[in-house]
Amino acid sequence: MKACLLRAPAPVAANPLDFTDAATPEPGPGEVLVRVKMCGVCRTDLHVVEGELPPRKSPVIPGHQIVGVVEKLGQGARRFKLGARVGIAWLHHTDRTCEYCRLGMENLCDHPEFTGYTQDGGYAEYAVAPEDFIYGMPERFSDRDAAPLLCAGIIGFRCLRLSGVKRGSRLAFYGFGAAAHVAIQVARYWGVEVYACTRGAKHQQLALQLGAVWAGEAVAEPPAKLDAAIVFAPAGELVPLALKALKKGGALVLGGIHMSPIPSFDYNLLYQERMIRSVANNTRKDGEDFLRMAAEIPIRTQVTMFPLREANRALNNLKSDRINGAAVLDCTQ
Ligand SMILES: [Zn+2]
Ligand SMILES: [Zn+2]
Repeated sequence: MKACLLRAPAPVAANPLDFTDAATPEPGPGEVLVRVKMCGVCRTDLHVVEGELPPRKSPVIPGHQIVGVVEKLGQGARRFKLGARVGIAWLHHTDRTCEYCRLGMENLCDHPEFTGYTQDGGYAEYAVAPEDFIYGMPERFSDRDAAPLLCAGIIGFRCLRLSGVKRGSRLAFYGFGAAAHVAIQVARYWGVEVYACTRGAKHQQLALQLGAVWAGEAVAEPPAKLDAAIVFAPAGELVPLALKALKKGGALVLGGIHMSPIPSFDYNLLYQERMIRSVANNTRKDGEDFLRMAAEIPIRTQVTMFPLREANRALNNLKSDRINGAAVLDCTQ
């Protein structure tokens, strides 16, 4: 099969992904082989490729927003039929036995496997995954529109849940890329008032089109005090700014897997029961709940397509803020 291999992390400007031939994987017991149609490009892929996340498998095929069809069943796999359309996301597998798994917090599993990081992912024509950790994809989305739902969508949804927002809440997004452009649609559906703090007129414009009541630069102060804020941009310097915008008792949720150092700040930014929490991965229930709601709303994703062989270009464009909405690789080309 054709695949984009990362042999060693390097700056994306050096085009470190090698578009080459690789062995088509074989599904093991309980796994399925998926013919990849589309694979979304996530900021986490950038962190894998550039080495902000320490290498766990080498070489590795990145990509964890995979939409494809079941091509072959491993021994004992029976959840999906051949030809079923499925999604493979970041949480590839858990041990199911650690204290976190037993308490329903499998997103915090002590021995997790992650697609496109500790296991090969979807920047390829084929991928394998355990059948218990993949999703049936709602019919109403095309393959390309569905791809960004699988991480940007699910993680954004978990951030919204943990932010505690409800009807009438005021919420700001810091950074308005793939995750925020989906999360704003869920927030609007819930009757939440959304503010967007993000670099660049194009991202601000997209936020306004999707129903934000206000959009400004990432460092600008929203015109109202907020019940919650979600930081999607990997920039630690936004944390004190976002805290400053919160009401008493407000929640700040950090949605990224990696962030530059957070500068020190005065305790009074946090005092009055404001809180900060990060989001790590997601449970399968988050994924299932989100996909059901995404179809009900329905979420409309804005995607920029790249052929699989141009994955380096997609990552470079993501890094330099040139993607409006989400980037998706067409793995059939
Ligand atoms: Zn576990
Ligand atoms: Zn992701």
